[in-house]
Amino acid sequence: MARAVSDTRQLTALKEELIAGAAQVASIGLVPLTQGNLSLRDPQSGHVLITPHDYPYDELTTDDVVVLDLAGNVVDGFREPSHESPVHLAVYERRPEVVAIVHAEPIYTNVFGVLHKPIAPLHVNTLIDVGGAVPVMPFAPSGSRQFGYDMLEVMGDKRAVVWANHGMLAVGDSLSKAIHCTVMVEISAQLYHMALQHGQPHLIPDEFSDQLVG
Ligand SMILES: [Zn+2]
Repeated sequence: MARAVSDTRQLTALKEELIAGAAQVASIGLVPLTQGNLSLRDPQSGHVLITPHDYPYDELTTDDVVVLDLAGNVVDGFREPSHESPVHLAVYERRPEVVAIVHAEPIYTNVFGVLHKPIAPLHVNTLIDVGGAVPVMPFAPSGSRQFGYDMLEVMGDKRAVVWANHGMLAVGDSLSKAIHCTVMVEISAQLYHMALQHGQPHLIPDEFSDQLVG
């Protein structure tokens, strides 16, 4: 009985963490209106907590968070899960170290997404957080587990990927790291875009970038 109570408390704490993370990315404009989605792995059960489909971030309560098993069955919650759930589940299935995922729609990142041009890691912090240039996945309709598998191939060992003509996805071993990575991708995209107006920006030299990526 004591175990069940602590499990419920743990799940509620994780739902609150997800809601706070969603509010944070919404507040800085990375998921306009109801776009994007966030998820978090429950380390105890292995289940995945995800934001509901097409639901305003500023109205989210713990009751609105949907909990899925890795097969995609709803184990808790009454809302429709994000339509990108199969993509998130593909990542959790194949990348055991991933604890959190953010799919966002930041405007400067989308500039490179429509150009199908990788985002150069111009800022030191982007290099550290993302692990190199942010690759662009060739266009394909999202929302399927196969899309997730194909995306992981393009991502390789990076912690973020741009979806052609459709936002980006970042992963982390915590929700705060996945959010941090999302923010740094957008900052780098903005920096890259602005620098390109004035000339060809200088990349961080290879010998230093290797050290920074570790
Ligand atoms: Zn989307």
